[in-house]
Amino acid sequence: MTLLVPLLVAQLAVTQADLDTDEPLPQLKGEAKARIQNLEQFLEDWDVQGARTELAELEKLAPADIEPLRYFKGRVAFEEGDYEAAVTELTASGVRDKPGSWLRLVTDTRDIVKDHDRAESEHFIFLYPKGKDAVLVPWALDTLEAIHAALEKDLGFAPPGKIRVEIVKNASELSKVSTLTKEAIRTTGTIAICKFNKLMVTSPSAVLTGYDWLDTLAHEYVHLVVSKKSRNTVPIWMHEGLAKYLESRWRGPAGGAMTPSTLALLGSRVRANKLVPFEKMHPSMALLPTAEDAATAFAEVFFAIQMIDSEAGPKALDRMLSEMAKGTSEKSAVESVTKKKWPEFERAWMAHLKKQPFPAELIPPSAHEKKQLVENGPGKEKEKKKEREVSFGDFAEVAETSARKSAHLGELMRERRRTAAAAEHFERAYLTVGDRYESISNKYALTLLELKKFDVAEKVLRGSLVMHPGSASTNTHLARIALKAKKYDVVKTACLDSLAVNPFDPEVYASLYLAAKALQDEPLKNRAIKALVVLLGIDESRIPEVAKRIEQSDLVDVDLTPKPTPDAG
Ligand SMILES: [Zn+2]
Repeated sequence: MTLLVPLLVAQLAVTQADLDTDEPLPQLKGEAKARIQNLEQFLEDWDVQGARTELAELEKLAPADIEPLRYFKGRVAFEEGDYEAAVTELTASGVRDKPGSWLRLVTDTRDIVKDHDRAESEHFIFLYPKGKDAVLVPWALDTLEAIHAALEKDLGFAPPGKIRVEIVKNASELSKVSTLTKEAIRTTGTIAICKFNKLMVTSPSAVLTGYDWLDTLAHEYVHLVVSKKSRNTVPIWMHEGLAKYLESRWRGPAGGAMTPSTLALLGSRVRANKLVPFEKMHPSMALLPTAEDAATAFAEVFFAIQMIDSEAGPKALDRMLSEMAKGTSEKSAVESVTKKKWPEFERAWMAHLKKQPFPAELIPPSAHEKKQLVENGPGKEKEKKKEREVSFGDFAEVAETSARKSAHLGELMRERRRTAAAAEHFERAYLTVGDRYESISNKYALTLLELKKFDVAEKVLRGSLVMHPGSASTNTHLARIALKAKKYDVVKTACLDSLAVNPFDPEVYASLYLAAKALQDEPLKNRAIKALVVLLGIDESRIPEVAKRIEQSDLVDVDLTPKPTPDAG
């Protein structure tokens, strides 16, 4: 069996050079020509304000209708998110509309985003497709504001103006707004991209079991801040190391995004002496020969950044990026903050890697780490339906044959409602593999719930959560147990963790509603109500009745599908 490895995700993609610039040759001379060069440099540096100021100066020098001026007006309008103006200006500048051109990119972006709904917070503009993606809004804006505040503290930088965040429906739309090919998106598992002065993120509805979409928003925002603060001088390895290391800052300390499965993979490579050498990470980590190599490289650079942050004194990352913004090379900047020559730094980094507390054996990635796109999934409708019960029903990921067989038998018994027998088989599987498989732990826990063995079920789920942090299924099942025990704080935490991966499960909001009500948390209750109205398409007045169904359920089959009212026709 091939080992599934979490693919590198949310990477920085395409460089500016990938786009056909196709720009009208500047017929301008003297100061105007110099201004255009500055303008290009500002755009290259991710300094949109600088570009805008330069453009205003250029407008004083050149006739308003000359093509180079209109071209740059279009480019700047695009970075500012004014897509209509960008299309008008680029068209007027005489650039051709062909695949890979700025005009095509800008037109596609306009068409994809034009009917989006919009929400704003102090520092962000959040654009999302009409419909159920509306449930993303409050959590997304909270996360973005939190990472904004954290990075202002850690890196001493906050971008000017409001940052745009655009949700796209699927890989095909992500391809159009990013210029990354669909094939590249699939092979690299890219789910979000930071480019063109904004974040572009695929809706969690495009991924079978959801994905860590809130961490991903934070991750992309780190990329944005790093690009802007350093004036786009940071190479890919350092970019990804910083983004992975700092992405958890919206919810706690840095470094919280390293998962046991990634750590276990890294450990196996350390033991086999098969780390990815630093030189191979150039020019792009996405070009490494296998997904495992890529995942290993990402883990390696995570620890490089962690070591710099923890050993190079206060504000080390802030100082490193500030030096690079002034033109210092990445190696010199690292040497300067770590006070180590590069080869010495590399040796210290490898030593730091090797002393991590690696799990003894490989751990399969959690469901949400795999980020399997709905459109790629086998029989998506079937999978969609099964997803509420951790959808890998055939336990294909279970490497141990005896455990897989026991789990199969357990599932067979469950389907025949022979719960006690099912529990025995799942227990046998569980005793063989422990907490390694999210699927076995959750199925075992469900049979235990059915047998009213709540304490054992909770123990199994807690163990699974250590190995597979963030699992939406595990958290949802834990919320059921806590609700039964009226531990409302626990319900709340489990629900918030669950929706950070799968934000479209009505049960999570119904549990959250009950918890918020008991905790007298009005704002949270209102968020839960709003989400339920969107997801179930019911009137607000019916929510107490629908939420009660969880409490009245057997905790195994929770169904919140609204029953039609008599006059529903
Ligand atoms: Zn990234």
